[in-house]
Amino acid sequence: MPTTAYATHDDYRLHTLEGHPEHAGRIEAVWRLLDESGMPARLERVEPPLADVDDLLLAHWARQIEQVERAAKRGMGMLDPDTYARPASYEVARRAVGGAMAAVDAVLGGADNALAIVRPPGHHATPLRAMGFCLFNNIAIAARRAQQANPAVERVMIYDFDVHHGNGTQDVFYDDPSVLFISSHQYPFYPGTGALEETGTGAGRGTTINVPLRAGVGGSAFRLLAERVIWPAARRFKPDLMLVSAGFDAHWADPLAMLQLDLRGFDWLVRELIRMAEVLCGGRIVFVMEGGYDLEVLAHGWLNIAAALQGDEGFSDPVGDLDVEARSGDDIVERVVRLHGLD
Ligand code: ZN
Repeated sequence: MPTTAYATHDDYRLHTLEGHPEHAGRIEAVWRLLDESGMPARLERVEPPLADVDDLLLAHWARQIEQVERAAKRGMGMLDPDTYARPASYEVARRAVGGAMAAVDAVLGGADNALAIVRPPGHHATPLRAMGFCLFNNIAIAARRAQQANPAVERVMIYDFDVHHGNGTQDVFYDDPSVLFISSHQYPFYPGTGALEETGTGAGRGTTINVPLRAGVGGSAFRLLAERVIWPAARRFKPDLMLVSAGFDAHWADPLAMLQLDLRGFDWLVRELIRMAEVLCGGRIVFVMEGGYDLEVLAHGWLNIAAALQGDEGFSDPVGDLDVEARSGDDIVERVVRLHGLD
């Protein structure tokens, strides 16, 4: 049985705001279901450290870090209309970065694979600002740190299947050819970025791949996307490590978005990514929690990731699929294939 490292921390519940979709009840729902299933006993728990300023500086400007710290110190600050900071938030956000770092360290230190169940999420946090519920970019910092600390890790692939474009992660690596960033997301939608034509700049041209999906697209688009885009792009890039920004807000029941994936579709995608890591980088894959606002979907999504990492058969889905035929996303996937020469 594979050794699966599991990074999480009790303090993640200390950053919360009643009535806000990104509240502590999200992670508590995940913990509760994992506990009920007995899953934690099968995982190797790793302790997330507090990321220090030098870690944060791997993806953020000093003034962004100071801005988060100041907003937290003020007690209740809004960093943008969607993004709150409470007194504990500066520390909790550093601990969330630490969760992604600890999961990556575990995989580079001998665990077969890992999951980081953390919050606040990170993929919208840009070098210059906190936004979209995200304070610091957990996955981007973990990727950079893995490259710095490990000579064997030169090339990192990040796939972001959260329903929102991972604009922050894109910004961090836009000119960096050592990180392949692939994002599939509903488009046009928050945060407004992630058009097909955004492909990187300078030396990083071609190592940003955006797959902007129309509202209403379901599982068949993701299967096509994996086969036609993610597999060939990953084979061409040859990653040493794969990281996944895992959000469950592309589920049809999610209150924030309008893609129509179901838990069966997520499970297929997750297993495909695990298989990809086995083929391309010795199985080294880390799933990091981003969005997902239907608590039942979020909890079962993470239970299914843990089970898939452990090599279990089957998946858990109390919510079911939609009776409606989801719209196909074939045309956009084929445009991505042509633009990036993936044929
Ligand atoms: Zn999202």
